[in-house]
Amino acid sequence: MPTPLSSDAVVLRVINYSDTSLIVRLFTEQFGKVTVIAKGARRPKQATAGLLQPPNHITVWYQHKEGRDIQTLIKSEFVERYAGLTADLARSTAAMVAVEMLDRAVHDYDPHPLLFRLITATLRQLNQTGRDVAVVLHFYQLHLARQLGFGPRLSSCGQCGRPMNKASLDMSNGSLLCDRCRTQEGIRLGRPSLEHLRNLDRTHISKLDEIQPNDKTKKEVENFLLNHLYFHVDGMSNLKSIKFWRQVAA
Ligand SMILES: [Zn+2]
Repeated sequence: MPTPLSSDAVVLRVINYSDTSLIVRLFTEQFGKVTVIAKGARRPKQATAGLLQPPNHITVWYQHKEGRDIQTLIKSEFVERYAGLTADLARSTAAMVAVEMLDRAVHDYDPHPLLFRLITATLRQLNQTGRDVAVVLHFYQLHLARQLGFGPRLSSCGQCGRPMNKASLDMSNGSLLCDRCRTQEGIRLGRPSLEHLRNLDRTHISKLDEIQPNDKTKKEVENFLLNHLYFHVDGMSNLKSIKFWRQVAA
């Protein structure tokens, strides 16, 4: 017997199915990643097609059947509308990067409430005007790594344990190393970049506008975070949204 279930969810991805339906991948707060079919959602006069788009934050009701890969959506409605996101290319692109990374990082039916809080708080920040979009995205990427159990060690060298004021990411073992220990040309983090990462680590997401790194720092930090995530999280490479983000952020 199918069980009716309900949860808040962020839409990760949607694809057309048949002439009238949609297959929708969701990150639900209660149940982790769940894929549903929205039958008839693309029929004229159906409002749901606009609702079932990434990165919308919605509530879903669906029929869950054990052993099924795709569950059946009953209905859905908005929790929050991110009008500011859709109006701005940089913010909407950053949101797509955040959502695509989440899609790659989480597994079916493996709930992660803290990650759900992280993605919804990030989308809320990106929806607001006056935020440095790159700073919000980098906060998200650093804390995504932390939540997945791959938070970088920012204070001391991954090899000798000495305190560091600059570092480089060693791509053979994925650690940040001090200048004495690094053996190859890794991904460099100068003093301001390392300090900025530590700020991102300890600042609340609502206070990010107090952090104002320069462009060089943002570039270094972005390069580090992407390579750190590529190294530690399976399936994170070749993100489609990243190349658009690079064009928009350039
Ligand atoms: Zn060292």
